[in-house]
Amino acid sequence: MTENSSGIAGLTVLAVFAHPDDEGFGCGGVLAILASRGARLITVVATNGDVGEISDPALATTENLGQVRQDEMRRAMAVTGAAEVHFLGYRDSGMDGTEDNKHPDSLNQATKEAVVEKIVKLIRELRPDVVFTHDPTGGYGHPDHIASYLHTKDAFAAAGSEQYPNAGQPWTPSLLYYVCFPRNNFRKIWEKMLEMGIKPPFASEILDKVGSPDDEVTTIIDVSSHVDTKITSLECHATQLQPDGPFGTLPKDYMKEIMSTEFFTLASSPPGETDADILANELPAGSPI
Ligand SMILES: [Zn+2]
Repeated sequence: MTENSSGIAGLTVLAVFAHPDDEGFGCGGVLAILASRGARLITVVATNGDVGEISDPALATTENLGQVRQDEMRRAMAVTGAAEVHFLGYRDSGMDGTEDNKHPDSLNQATKEAVVEKIVKLIRELRPDVVFTHDPTGGYGHPDHIASYLHTKDAFAAAGSEQYPNAGQPWTPSLLYYVCFPRNNFRKIWEKMLEMGIKPPFASEILDKVGSPDDEVTTIIDVSSHVDTKITSLECHATQLQPDGPFGTLPKDYMKEIMSTEFFTLASSPPGETDADILANELPAGSPI
């Protein structure tokens, strides 16, 4: 990290998520800031989001949704400033217990070794300083989010070792961040929905289980300077936008305020470096949860 400790420009950042659009809500602001300050930003999407919702039948069919979502992702990343987008090509596994979980091409059915090797290969080719992925809860527990977290964590650890000898020359990235959705934020949004007479998409019983435990957040960033870019980028994922859904119905100003703060766990940094949190050191701090 030493050569990059003076700033963001020159950093290579690799963000690995499960589906096209997972990058947006949780860290789209930080990604846009990093890109605007000269970082090389690369996103990796494990699945094509093939079994996601289709907000408007004019946009996609169940047959071509994966392709349409790849195109949406590329457009979104052009807005954010990501130079490259890679797809691991797995099929979306859908939610736990669905038939999509058992599809042979799904991420859920892929072996850990196969997925980790693909991510190790990308890390060794692209040589990132910083890696982002889902947090251990997967936000709301989607199996693809949790798989992407597990495999990226393992790939981050293995990339600098002699493991996976067919996946290129070892490279050790410096920092691993998990993108968090703090539990207390879910609760605040849930309360706001009730206050406005909107039916929340989750029951009160799961409020203590959904989202990242608040005390796992190490880093809170104010992304208000780039929240408009973040929103424009998110709007590229048009098949996933539900203007009449619970989130779409919340007032735009409120959503903008919510989206102006992003939360992370610094999960790994070089041994002995106590001041390695480059997001905290270089970007404006956000308000505590
Ligand atoms: Zn997702």
